[in-house]
Amino acid sequence: MKTMLVTGGAGFIGSHFIVYLLNRNPGMRVINLDALTYAGNPENLREVWDHPNYRFVHGNICDMARVEQLFIETEIDYVLNFAAESHVDRSICDPRVFVDTNVVGTVNLLNAARVHWDKDGRFPEGKKFLQISTDEVYGSLGETGSFTEDTPLDPHSPYSASKAGADLLVKAYYDTYGLPVNITRCSNNYGPCQFPEKLIPLLIRNAVAKKGLPIYGDGMNIRDWIYVEDHCKAIELVLHRGRLGEVYNVGGCCERTTLQIVRTIIAYLHDRVDPGITENLIRFVEDRKGHDRRYAIDAGKIRRELGWVPETRFEEGIERTIQWYLEHRHRLDEVKA
Ligand code: NAD
Repeated sequence: MKTMLVTGGAGFIGSHFIVYLLNRNPGMRVINLDALTYAGNPENLREVWDHPNYRFVHGNICDMARVEQLFIETEIDYVLNFAAESHVDRSICDPRVFVDTNVVGTVNLLNAARVHWDKDGRFPEGKKFLQISTDEVYGSLGETGSFTEDTPLDPHSPYSASKAGADLLVKAYYDTYGLPVNITRCSNNYGPCQFPEKLIPLLIRNAVAKKGLPIYGDGMNIRDWIYVEDHCKAIELVLHRGRLGEVYNVGGCCERTTLQIVRTIIAYLHDRVDPGITENLIRFVEDRKGHDRRYAIDAGKIRRELGWVPETRFEEGIERTIQWYLEHRHRLDEVKA
């Protein structure tokens, strides 16, 4: 039986991944190491909580002794590092914790894997360290073009800089020690269970309460959006079939301006919840410092090599997401500020 150490598995994407994985592959043993910061919620894992192959460990990836102990106790085959401070606005207010978790935490995990997997300078088949990264490490695009895996790293926020630092360390462990690694770089995820400081749940929360919908700048910044389950499928494929040392971009083929996202959410809620929810709620606010204008992903490599394509159309995924929040309204109240 293979054992996977998932870090940050109580967060948005990590929890979706664990549920997806154990549904498909109940024979995999999963250890979820999560510090349960404000962004981690055990409720996300209700479906697998009693699964015989699931174990939750409350701990911090910056705690080297804790990480070491896990590798000593159990023969770990895969490390999937989802744990991160993930919110750009918070990184602008307080970058330090982003460096701690995203950089120092990642190097702790890399080091433990290197020490425990190394057999006389070689790494046995079947081991892999998979770093879950972001398209934000590439910086900003103009009106055309898209990020490929060869686009130079050019991060602008403390969040993206810390993720780029982690990616470079992962690459260094491959180049220096031959540690079997992959990196996935994905665009903006959306779906159920996302902490409501992020754009989509925040807009749903405010709209339902008929509060102002804050939009940075002119609302014309563009992001690529992907339904979280499509991301999970890509991660599983890269884990099993990704070529060692390679980076794989993952994207939803779905560029939208912030204003388009807001209008989609307003239209849905206007028609189905309350006709008083209208575009009058939109409030343009001062732009985010260093706000990247446009991200777009070229996911051709993962399509060609692993046959992955995003399957969920935006219109379908966003309806499912809004509906989920309407049915789990308490999850919208998790953020107070
Ligand atoms: P999230 O903020 O929802 O969850 C992060 C999880 O990590 C939480 O459960 C938290 O408790 C845990 N955590 C934080 N610091 C920790 C530490 N020091 N030790 C152990 N656990 C810790 O994040 P998410 O949106 O699920 O993102 C997961 C990963 O995917 C991150 O690495 C992020 O950079 C990356 N990513 C996210 C997106 C996106 O759109 N959300 C896109 C691309 C990549």
